[in-house]
Amino acid sequence: MTKSTEIPYKIYLEESEMPKAWYNVRADMKKKPAPLVNPGTGKPMTAAELEAVFCADLVKQELDNDTRDFPIPDDIRNFYKMYRPSPLVRAYCLEEKLGTPAHIYYKFEGNNTSGSHKLNSAIAQAYYAKKQGLKGITTETGAGQWGTALSMASAYLDLDLIVYMVKVSYEQKPFRREVMRTYGSRVIASPSDTTNVGRKILEEFPGTGGSLGCAISEAVEYAVTHEGYRYVLGSVLNQVLLHQSVIGLETKAALDKYGVKADIIIGCAGGGSNLGGLISPFMGQKLRGEADYDIIAVEPASCPSFTRGVYAYDFCDTGKICPLAKMYTLGSSFMPSPIHAGGLRYHGMSPILSELYDQKLMRAVSVEQTEVFKAAQMFARIEGILPAPESSHAIKAAIDEALKCKETGEAKNIVFGLTGTGYFDMVAYGQFNDGKMTDFIPSDEDIAKSIALLPKV
Ligand SMILES: *Cc1c(COP(=O)(O)O)cnc(C)c1O
Repeated sequence: MTKSTEIPYKIYLEESEMPKAWYNVRADMKKKPAPLVNPGTGKPMTAAELEAVFCADLVKQELDNDTRDFPIPDDIRNFYKMYRPSPLVRAYCLEEKLGTPAHIYYKFEGNNTSGSHKLNSAIAQAYYAKKQGLKGITTETGAGQWGTALSMASAYLDLDLIVYMVKVSYEQKPFRREVMRTYGSRVIASPSDTTNVGRKILEEFPGTGGSLGCAISEAVEYAVTHEGYRYVLGSVLNQVLLHQSVIGLETKAALDKYGVKADIIIGCAGGGSNLGGLISPFMGQKLRGEADYDIIAVEPASCPSFTRGVYAYDFCDTGKICPLAKMYTLGSSFMPSPIHAGGLRYHGMSPILSELYDQKLMRAVSVEQTEVFKAAQMFARIEGILPAPESSHAIKAAIDEALKCKETGEAKNIVFGLTGTGYFDMVAYGQFNDGKMTDFIPSDEDIAKSIALLPKV
């Protein structure tokens, strides 16, 4: 064992130590995640069907359950070098504040202008679109982190990007919107009059603030009706977890450098991309029987897909135009309350993580909003970084585990993912500071209602 004082506050890897290939955890899963299903035929989606909507190389990655390593193309690696390797920080100050014998580490992904881990997959998806000779890509964004990341990636590759931004966010988050426009994206408030589905919704509900489901439907419609365009998605899909494995591979390399073996690995879970990426190489060891880890997904009590959902086929979008995915879900008609961690307000969960959770290879906890912000405030004051509300779910769970160690006297190594910064979330912090933040927990009836509407497959 290395003595703790020998470990620096920040463990940086050299550029040459950055991963050269993404790791596909599906290769080590004996029971694979369930395939995407065509709602029309009830059969697994074929590559040809998926290629009408998504880029060809990304479809290959999506469907490949067997190839373990995907080499990262040089152009993507070079882009990564602008903000990677990201630091693995030893939270000495937090440990001292908590008085815990535990050793706490966090992998910080907020060190780029988009402010989150989403850039890791955005650059990959934009790259394959460019390689295919496409003119442009379309996507949706709610809170705006994904749209921002994809705007940066598209600008770098000189690719046209159309972002359907949920109308309430478009109006309430002008800063995010302007960052995207500065990078050259066309940002359209959704619902809009640029698509059939948008026009229809506007006619039915003239004053609507829109929803993520509606924005997805518009982005997909635009892509399939315009030559040279495809649609891209920032979480949930297998390909996104593959790209995000760069987080876990770097984390493992940094820990290995100092001979540290993680005991507990924690991440917040919205669609599952950061958590899936962080745990992939560790889960690989676990699946191969080489090591064991306690892996924890942290979700908001207001949108508890793992802890209160069911494992079933469901629509990925509320508009019901995307393929069906088998996942832990609250039902695509579930309307999560308006909590501030926008990136965690998703009714479903990555099919890969859902299968791993179902096999009991990881566990999940849910936490309430005000507790999350208390943890965020403590972390900001002691570790210096102002965390995103999403990331703060992981902070809260890490603190809880460290306090358990204080009781038992165990010096466990706790590793968590700090996915981003919270500079665009100051309205939420304002509410917290004013003591006006509330918690939302759906009733069993609320959840039962949307689960009763799951498609029959
Ligand atoms: C989008 C987002 C998340 C949640 O998304 P996952 O796909 O579950 O990782 C978490 N943290 C931040 C900062 C985000 O922007």
